[in-house]
Amino acid sequence: MRKPVIAGNWKMYKTLAEAKDFVEQLKEKQVDSNKIETVICAPALFLNSLVQVAKDSFISIGAQTMHEEKEGAFTGEVSGNQLQDLGVQYVVIGHSERRQYFNETDESVNKKVKAAFENNLTPIICVGETLEQREQNETESIVSTQVMAALEGLSEENVKNSIIAYEPIWAIGTGKTATADDANDVCQAIRETVLDGFGEEVSSSVRIQYGGSVKPENIEELLSKEHIDGALVGGASLQVDSFVKLLEAGQ
Ligand code: PEP
Repeated sequence: MRKPVIAGNWKMYKTLAEAKDFVEQLKEKQVDSNKIETVICAPALFLNSLVQVAKDSFISIGAQTMHEEKEGAFTGEVSGNQLQDLGVQYVVIGHSERRQYFNETDESVNKKVKAAFENNLTPIICVGETLEQREQNETESIVSTQVMAALEGLSEENVKNSIIAYEPIWAIGTGKTATADDANDVCQAIRETVLDGFGEEVSSSVRIQYGGSVKPENIEELLSKEHIDGALVGGASLQVDSFVKLLEAGQ
C-alpha cells in the first residue's frame, strides 16, 4: 500500500507571520499521519521557523529547490546540507517554473536528486509536458524521458523513496486540470517507465503525485485513481481551509 502524500507548494507567497500562522492553525486539525503524509514546501527563508512550529506534528517541511553542491561560491543558493541541518525533510526538484525561468535541465535535476538523497531529503521530482507537446501526442515520451533522466544512476532504494509529481505545465495555476483518467494514464506510464528501469518492486512502491490546479472539488476523483498517490498543490495550499479539505480527501 502506497501512502498518499499531499504537498503544498507555496511558491513565493506569504510573509513569515502568515506562514507561521498557517502552520499553527494546520497543526490543530485532526489529520492521521498513518493515512496521509502532509508536506508544506515553503520559501527558503521561512524553513527554519516552520520546522520549529511543525515540530511533533503530522506536518513535514520541504524546500522548493536546492543547489546540487554541498557548499561553495554560489551566491543566493541553498544546499541540501543546509536544508538537512535545519530539519527540512523534502525538497521539490525540477518544478516547471524552475525549468522555465531558472534554466534547470534534466541533467541538473538528476544532480539535485542525487544530492537530495545524500542529505537525507526526499525529492519531489516534477515532470510534465507543455500544451504544445500534449497536442502533438508527445506527453508520454516527454514525461518518460524526464523521469529516466531524473532517476539516472540512482539506487533502487532511492528510486523507491522518491516522489514523482506529474504536473502538466498547461494545468499549473491555470484552473485547467487534466481529467482524472488522463492524469492516471500518464501516472501509469510513469510507473511503467520506472518498471522498465528499476523493476517491479521499485515501480510498485514509488509514489506518483498529480499536480495542476488540484482543489477540494477535484481531489477525490484524482485520488481514487490507481496510479495517483497524492497531489502537489499550489494555489489551493495557500489557505488552511482548502488545504485541510485536500488532506481530508486523502485519508
Ligand atoms: C504547483 O505549483 O506545482 C501547482 C500545481 O500549482 P497549482 O495547484 O496552483 O496549479
